[in-house]
Amino acid sequence: MDWENMRRSDNVETRRGGSAFGGRGAPLGLGLGGLVLVVSLSALFGVNPLYLLGMLQEGGSPPPQVAVSPPTDDRQTEFVRAILGDTEDVWGSIFQRTGKHYDAPKLVLFTGAVQSACGLTSAAVGPFYCPRDAEIYLDLSFFQELSQRFGAPGEFARAYVIAHEIGHHVQNLLGTMKNVQEQHARTNEAARNALSVRQELQADCLAGVWGHYTAQRGLINQADVQSALHAAAQIGDDRLQRRTQGTVVPEAFTHGSAEQRVRWFRTGLESGDPNQCNTFAVAQL
Ligand SMILES: [Zn+2]
Repeated sequence: MDWENMRRSDNVETRRGGSAFGGRGAPLGLGLGGLVLVVSLSALFGVNPLYLLGMLQEGGSPPPQVAVSPPTDDRQTEFVRAILGDTEDVWGSIFQRTGKHYDAPKLVLFTGAVQSACGLTSAAVGPFYCPRDAEIYLDLSFFQELSQRFGAPGEFARAYVIAHEIGHHVQNLLGTMKNVQEQHARTNEAARNALSVRQELQADCLAGVWGHYTAQRGLINQADVQSALHAAAQIGDDRLQRRTQGTVVPEAFTHGSAEQRVRWFRTGLESGDPNQCNTFAVAQL
């Protein structure tokens, strides 16, 4: 993957000293069985899992959160800036073609836990997008986890993770996310999960749309595409459930099966057309 030749974004921010000051709304992540990670981390470190899940708010005055510019010599930060910059260019021109303006999101790099408008969130849930502040949150250690724990190495696999969260941002800008949230409020858990799967598969498809244009400009090759498809499969709900609980419960899926995640990513990748990503309109996902 030739990310060295991508334009660097100025929207990457590093935040240290996470704290809690009251949160609401749900962050949208990749669906990594965060709960299991949280519980195992809690067992290891003796931390209250509810705290890690961001369900408890700290009392007293929280330590201030300090925003600092990312260090320029950090290669991983550089990589994130390049991928984010490229998504800005690609989505900027896609929006422009339809007479719309692409409002680029900030991407916040953090360690351990982070406070967003969606509450205090632990790194254990994986990268996520918070629709309330329209920012993406990423703990760089997740990239290590992606290759070691989830068996998905490769630069483009990492880029896919960012592009998936950008997909949620696009949904937010287009109003899709608001529609989903409105429907969420009026329905039961099974239907909410089904709705969530459609929303997540659409984000996968939109990540593929971005991949289409990087491929077109010769910035990725077939091996890169394979590594992203592999990553999409590794974080399919069926594989995660089998790994963490030994059985597969499709009704509890929130992000889609490995096969579905690969197929929708591929749909975006091959077409380069966001209109092909209407996961809400198809009878069979
Ligand atoms: Zn997601």
